Amino acid sequence: MHALAAAIRGGDTAALARGITLVESQSPADVDNAEELLQALLPHTGGSLRIGITGAPGVGKSTLIETLGLRLCGAGKRVAVLAVDPSSTVTGGSILGDKTRMTELSRHRNAFIRPSPGGSAQGGVAARTREAMLLCEAAGYGVVFVETIGTGQGEVKVHGMVDFFLLLLSPAAGDELQGIKRGVMELADAVLVHKADGDLGPAADRAAQQCLLAMRVLRGGDAEAPPILLGSSVTGRGIDELWHAIEQRLASRRQSGAFAANRTRQAGEWLDAAVRERLLSEFFGDAAIAQAMATARQQVARGELVPSAAARRLLALRKT
Ligand code: GDP
Repeated sequence: MHALAAAIRGGDTAALARGITLVESQSPADVDNAEELLQALLPHTGGSLRIGITGAPGVGKSTLIETLGLRLCGAGKRVAVLAVDPSSTVTGGSILGDKTRMTELSRHRNAFIRPSPGGSAQGGVAARTREAMLLCEAAGYGVVFVETIGTGQGEVKVHGMVDFFLLLLSPAAGDELQGIKRGVMELADAVLVHKADGDLGPAADRAAQQCLLAMRVLRGGDAEAPPILLGSSVTGRGIDELWHAIEQRLASRRQSGAFAANRTRQAGEWLDAAVRERLLSEFFGDAAIAQAMATARQQVARGELVPSAAARRLLALRKT
């Protein structure tokens, strides 16, 4: 593991890809190695800007990441891209057909794009995005984009691991807005009304206005209310401004201490999640408990035992 850690730190992208596969693996043999790898790399993590990007399929997340990513790479930054949803766009696409995505960015030597295993919808893969992000940081990527299609759980998870959370809306957002989950609007650090170009320009302006109003209702006079921006990855409109807004917001958060406080809180949540995960896997992995569980299930089904009492008895079976 120390050799792998050294290769990752040395900028070997094949090693980085291997490391991510290892931390994503759920096989018991890999779990210990993954832990050792992460422990070895931990002192070298934390140095990137972690940017979450969410939005409905087709809103242009991949295209934006490609456009913005190329500009950042061109400016000498190193950029990594991870996808939370197994079927998300980075795979090259189970959602919108088999369009090739981020082709230019993927060829840039400053970029690393992690395709998530196509179609294999394992919760475990998404659950390891944070670990994958840390490996990218240890490999020296200064910006990590984490993409999610915003269908519910994904964005909450991503929000819990990034420094900045960007919501992409389409120019049709005026119609969509009511459908957009309030929760996502509440999580956003900025909203970008995307595809603000050509014929879509006026609709994009209207969508931005509507979004502004919705945000006012949601956040009142909150000084930290997220900016609503307009942009196009096709014409390049608003892309530099977007990055500027991200950098500015993060700089002011660093100054106020909010940046560090957020990272500390997220680390705590990571620990909580790890404890929960371990408890569950140890509990359900215990053969005696599995047997008792089957019996309890029948008793509950027959109406002989209330679930809470059954749960208490089952938990009492845990080895100390
Ligand atoms: P994703 O599913 O959110 O990753 O969306 P994609 O990046 O795959 O983009 C979906 C479609 O929108 C593609 O056909 C893109 O060419 C198109 N698209 C992406 N960005 C823009 C943009 O800024 N303007 C316009 N007009 N179309 C765009």
